[in-house]
Amino acid sequence: MQEKEVKYKPVSKADYEREFKQINLSFEKPSVDTCYTCNTLHMQIKVATEAENMDAKNEAENNLKEHQERADLAYQ
Ligand SMILES: [Zn+2]
Repeated sequence: MQEKEVKYKPVSKADYEREFKQINLSFEKPSVDTCYTCNTLHMQIKVATEAENMDAKNEAENNLKEHQERADLAYQ
C-alpha cells in the first residue's frame, strides 16, 4: 500500500526544499530508525513550528504518530 503524499501539506515548497538541504548537510548518513516518511514529517513539523503554523504542525505531528504506530505494528 502506498501512502499518499497529498495527505501532507507542506508549508511551502521553498521552505521544504531549504530544510531538506540543511538536513542533508547536517547528517552524513540516514539513521536506520527513520525512513523517508519520518524524515519528511519531522521536517514539516520543524518548518511549521518556525512558521508558527500550528494547524500544519498538529497535522504533521498526527501524521507522524499514525505513521510510527503503523511502523510499530509492521515489526510485530
Ligand atoms: Zn518512518
